[in-house]
Amino acid sequence: MAMPEKHILIVEDEVALREMLAFGLQRAGYRVTESGDCAAARAAIADSRPDLLLLDWMLPDMSGLEFARALRRDDATRELPIIMLTARAAEDDKVSGLQSGADDYITKPFSARELAARIEALLRRSGDHEEKLIAGAIEMNTVNHRVAIAGKEIALGPTEYRLLKFFMTHPERVFSRSQLLDRVWSGVYVEERTVDVHIRRLRRVLEDHACEHYVETVRGSGYRFSPQAQSNGR
Ligand code: CA
Repeated sequence: MAMPEKHILIVEDEVALREMLAFGLQRAGYRVTESGDCAAARAAIADSRPDLLLLDWMLPDMSGLEFARALRRDDATRELPIIMLTARAAEDDKVSGLQSGADDYITKPFSARELAARIEALLRRSGDHEEKLIAGAIEMNTVNHRVAIAGKEIALGPTEYRLLKFFMTHPERVFSRSQLLDRVWSGVYVEERTVDVHIRRLRRVLEDHACEHYVETVRGSGYRFSPQAQSNGR
């Protein structure tokens, strides 16, 4: 479910891809502006402050990375949510993409569903609604730490709570065990199989409410939280 009237600026020089993205986002209820390079994007940002930037990595006048860095240095755009579009899957690029100040990145080719989920999650994180997270049937209040599924309150241990919160703010994306350790257990030394233990506990709680399929195992890679996934009737 898209938040209507949010304004997204797409900075992408491949016309066909840009038009496809614009079409999909408009259909999802967003207002969309398009730019083919950083100079045009700069003018568009000054003109009408967008709520979120979809920024391609490879652009004709300046790299998306440099542009993101420049936006972060400017007080007017320091907080502007940015998702980098990249054709490069190398780990180094992802890291430098985030260091440049992008909030998230998505590697081409990506599905419309994946992109929509990232945009919604980022807008939610950066907006005024972050005290309440919603994913599928799950509702989380991050102020009083109450979690409900289909309106019924559920009890979670502190680690399961943090894990679920992380998943709900980063949907439709695969995380390895070590990435989850970094992001959810930050700094505390635990073994990778600890992740599996807590995933299992989280799933058991979700199972009571027929939502265990939200937490998908991606073989050889890790886990993905996919609240739009269909139950396969297990
Ligand atoms: Ca490009």
